[in-house]
Amino acid sequence: MKRVYLDYAATTPTHPDVVEAMRPYFGEKFGNPSSLHSFGRESKSAIEKAREQVVGLIAPRHSSGQGGSVEEIIFTSGGTESNNFALHGIAYANEKKGNHIIISSIEHHAMLAPCKFLESRGFKVTYLPVDKYGLVDPEEVRRAITDTTILVSVMHANNEIGTVEPVKEIAKITKEKNVYFHTDAVQTVGQIEVDVDKLGVDLLSLSGHKFYGPKGVGVLYVRKGTRMAPFLRGGEQERNRRASTENVPGIVGLGKACELAKKELPSRIEHLTSLRDKLIKGIMDKIPDVLLNGHPDQRLPKNVDITVRGIEGESMLLNLDLEGIAVSTGSACSSGTTEPSHVLMAIGLSHELAHGSLRFTLGRLTTEHDIDFVLDVFPKIVKKLRAMSPMYKGGR
Ligand SMILES: *Cc1c(COP(=O)(O)O)cnc(C)c1O
Repeated sequence: MKRVYLDYAATTPTHPDVVEAMRPYFGEKFGNPSSLHSFGRESKSAIEKAREQVVGLIAPRHSSGQGGSVEEIIFTSGGTESNNFALHGIAYANEKKGNHIIISSIEHHAMLAPCKFLESRGFKVTYLPVDKYGLVDPEEVRRAITDTTILVSVMHANNEIGTVEPVKEIAKITKEKNVYFHTDAVQTVGQIEVDVDKLGVDLLSLSGHKFYGPKGVGVLYVRKGTRMAPFLRGGEQERNRRASTENVPGIVGLGKACELAKKELPSRIEHLTSLRDKLIKGIMDKIPDVLLNGHPDQRLPKNVDITVRGIEGESMLLNLDLEGIAVSTGSACSSGTTEPSHVLMAIGLSHELAHGSLRFTLGRLTTEHDIDFVLDVFPKIVKKLRAMSPMYKGGR
């Protein structure tokens, strides 16, 4: 059966060039980067090359002389670790200044859960509301900052509804107030431009597998001069900030993914934007009573998040899966809880509407033909499910 993968926000297929770059580091180039002999040095230099590739993508040198350096790149085990590291690293190194952290209410669970933990250890966390498009108001950030605030964290783009947040504007405020600013850029690196200096952030999380790199490897960018406690203690890897023998193949793959992203970014954006807009228009034209979640234009080029009135996201997902189409839903049952997604609640959807949500996320390998296939199959599924739904009373 033909299969169409439209869940690129969950993970992406590793790019063949990335796999190729990684291969030797599982085999003949197996040395421990901390070893002083030639085997070790070979692995060490591979890591340092990857570090430069990361800098080249997220902290490139500008004519102004601004630009990042390799010391600001810490390799981690992924987006979740980078977010936990940012929070705990700042919290424990700046306790003397204060115990207040500000985040948005639509952060990924990899931010929300460690914040809940920090609250149980005496830290205070403010959860900023968002508007109906999922946007944080920078002025709300200003109002929330107090003398005890040590960190503000607002994601660069939301993984569910695709809204791109005004990170640059928020960074201006945190800088003025002398508070550290972290952004979870897991959904934007390799998807839209991400430049730590243009954004003005102090810390930034990214994850390899969300942009055609391998799983289990990520980066926390930490601007020079940031007061930061180490996360894992043990060896002296990553300048004493993150102990443990490095994931050399993963790091090499992540570096390669950054190099490819830099080269392909403009064509990726163009390709995805046109397919995304075709999918949105097709759905809106063919299916009545559908809402687009997220911002109409401040949204990720790959993201189409909708609510289909009167039916469950999970039923749509399962019916699409029978046709070989893989999507995701922010509705409850799929994640085994009874609550719909906190993101859809935060943008003001009712429980009923939130349960009818469905997320299509497009990627490198998505074709126009795939979108045509979805636009053929999906309206029939909606029609069938609505005909059986006691909840749907709508037209046509
Ligand atoms: C996927 C994701 C994460 C977690 O990254 P992992 O590498 O899977 O741990 C964190 N934040 C956002 C916004 C994500 O989409």
